[in-house]
Amino acid sequence: MEKSDFKALKEQLLSRRRNGFDRLDGAERDTLESYCAGYKAFLDAGKTERLCAAEAIRLAEQAGYRPYVRGMAVKAGDKVYLSNRGKSVLLAHIGEKSLAEGARIAAAHIDSPRLDLKPNPLYEDGELAYFKTHYYGGLRKYQWVTIPLELHGVVALRDGTTVQVNIGADAADPRLVITDLLPHLGAEQNKKTLGEAIPGETLNLLLGSEPIGDREESGRVKLAVMKLLNEKYGITEDDFTSAELEAVPAVKATDIGLDRSMIGAYGHDDRVCAYAALRALLDLDKTPARTAVCVLADKEEIGSDGVTGMQSAAFDTFMEDLCESQGVPLRVCFEKSFCLSADVTAAYDPNFSDVYEKRNAAYLNYGIGLCKYTGARGKSGASDADAETVAYIRNVFDEAGVIWQIAELGKVDAGGGGTVAVYMANRNITTLDAGVPVLSMHAPFETVSKLDCYETYKGMKAVFTAAD
Ligand code: MN
Ligand code: MN
Repeated sequence: MEKSDFKALKEQLLSRRRNGFDRLDGAERDTLESYCAGYKAFLDAGKTERLCAAEAIRLAEQAGYRPYVRGMAVKAGDKVYLSNRGKSVLLAHIGEKSLAEGARIAAAHIDSPRLDLKPNPLYEDGELAYFKTHYYGGLRKYQWVTIPLELHGVVALRDGTTVQVNIGADAADPRLVITDLLPHLGAEQNKKTLGEAIPGETLNLLLGSEPIGDREESGRVKLAVMKLLNEKYGITEDDFTSAELEAVPAVKATDIGLDRSMIGAYGHDDRVCAYAALRALLDLDKTPARTAVCVLADKEEIGSDGVTGMQSAAFDTFMEDLCESQGVPLRVCFEKSFCLSADVTAAYDPNFSDVYEKRNAAYLNYGIGLCKYTGARGKSGASDADAETVAYIRNVFDEAGVIWQIAELGKVDAGGGGTVAVYMANRNITTLDAGVPVLSMHAPFETVSKLDCYETYKGMKAVFTAAD
């Protein structure tokens, strides 16, 4: 065979996986940067599900979205949102076609792994004051010690009012920390596994050290800390009972690498897809053919249960209300709908190459990563999209010039994970997973590539505006 024939045949028959920078339209470089600047600001404004929901609503209102009220007449072109208890947001841009033709849905989650305060958090030991925590989501406990932390959340009072706590929102605010053992005394700890070295009950937040009152008294540091909290927030120790206070890393989103091609931040999982879905919806310049829906869900990191999680009937209720206003049964809408379950995937990490299967891993800068299935072992817990659905999205992305890749989350039997895809698919909605590949997923500081962030945004937009 001639060398040129071989080359032509290879071009014709074999897959050509290429780095996104070799495919990116040069004119898009500036758009990519400004998109990522907006994303970094979104991350800094929303380090908890509540703050993120509030920021999403602020951006939506700016774009002309208004709160949905049951019974409201909605027509093509209307832009509505519903805040589910301030922790999850559902948004819809009503399409030209009836909801009987189905909706185009992008579902991402806005909760991230973190340390929640226990209901009785405050104590003193060794003349130091602490908060007890209970970790939320799948985190590696050893990563959360000796890093500066912030505390955000609410204290709900018996009179129905709510106090906002944002320690760390202001640059001048103090930070909190969880201490770790010094190496000089770490001989026994060093023998433990990574999972055992930092027990959950040692994840205690250091709050203060200066006592008040007479030296004969006890609990002087605890009282001093409670006094400070009372002065600032008007709360007493019993009010922690009805509080949701979350410790999150005190770090701002920042460019990573000498070439600034990546972003390091807390909570890329899954605000990177949440922002892409939200921005794509808000940026639609005309009424979409089919109603475009963006779901920003809570509770994904602990299984999507609960009233604000993706398994909640809150989503069905919102969609049913919209359907009812058009005289369409919900089940008819669902069976014609398509959902992109927008969640992050694991990026290939050369430092830990043995847990990835190189031919089916997601790579940084190769674009939005499709996942036909997630799950563990023999695809357990996965919704496993059908071939036709993957073909549909391949076409939609290619038509829109979206840079994409398809991948699995690590080697077979290396572990596994899940997303909200299964809960959407269980509703009889055709669903496929897709999202941004992440390095150090679930760590206090995760890394993604700017190109992948931008291509995910383009992918969401392509879904919302797909011809069919
Ligand atoms: Mn996720
Ligand atoms: Mn996650």
